[in-house]
Amino acid sequence: MTSQERCRVTARAYGYPMTFTQALPKSLSPSRLADFQACPRRYQHASIERIPQPATYATAKGRFAHYIFEHLFLLPAEDRTIDQARNFVDPAIGAILTDDVRRDISMDDSLLAKLLEEISEIITTYFAMEDPRHVHTEGIELRLGVEVDETPLFGILDRLDRDDEGNLIIVDYKTGSLPNRNFDSHTFANAELYAALCREKLGETPVKIRLLYVAKGEAIERPVTDVVVKARAASAVNAWERIKRYYQDGDFPATPSANTCRFCSYKDLCRADGVPVPPR
Ligand code: SF4
Repeated sequence: MTSQERCRVTARAYGYPMTFTQALPKSLSPSRLADFQACPRRYQHASIERIPQPATYATAKGRFAHYIFEHLFLLPAEDRTIDQARNFVDPAIGAILTDDVRRDISMDDSLLAKLLEEISEIITTYFAMEDPRHVHTEGIELRLGVEVDETPLFGILDRLDRDDEGNLIIVDYKTGSLPNRNFDSHTFANAELYAALCREKLGETPVKIRLLYVAKGEAIERPVTDVVVKARAASAVNAWERIKRYYQDGDFPATPSANTCRFCSYKDLCRADGVPVPPR
């Protein structure tokens, strides 16, 4: 018996299959697809039952930096200076560090000071990576919704650039650590699905993905190929079929693994349901 089958048997003893009172989500986003592929049970808790996931320091920092870059790029190109970027720090404190977020991450004065210091470094580092006054953008926080083979896909793209040769480039900001140098296929998975969304929605396939690791000052790039775009779209279609089937069955299998469970907000729920969550 595989570990997945063992989890299903155990889960049944704890009330699965169940009838969901919540509707299926209207669409599948690249990040939710990643959730589902990592562990269908996590997708169930997050996207079907909509159980909120508390903010973490890392997610709060990521949203804070994204807020600043989004607002910087909404300015006319000539106004995108480092001083203007720093002017968005105060508005970001109000917009991102809500009472709920502060409670989730137990924010006190010293944690706020640490966050602001890191954001300041990110802004400095980012401006050493590129000059946003010379970037031609086709879209900021671009909302793309399409249907591919009856699968509703939706995502919000950080930035879609047009380079000097007229090609579209997908740009994604990353505030975490650099991936392993042998970047596995997961590193570009979300962005490659965004490329499929662009192709369907805009009738044009981006030629390249740029992941801007703004805390580290490094950009990682990969060309977009037709084969990869088709494979990402097919994988999303396949996942949506399985999501609908599991929803009907009332049972999204748990697929615990040390890596996946480590950053999962639903460990306690899982343990309560009898799913063995591997130790770190
Ligand atoms: S703790 Fe692990 S098995 Fe449970 S939902 Fe999260 S990722 Fe899945």
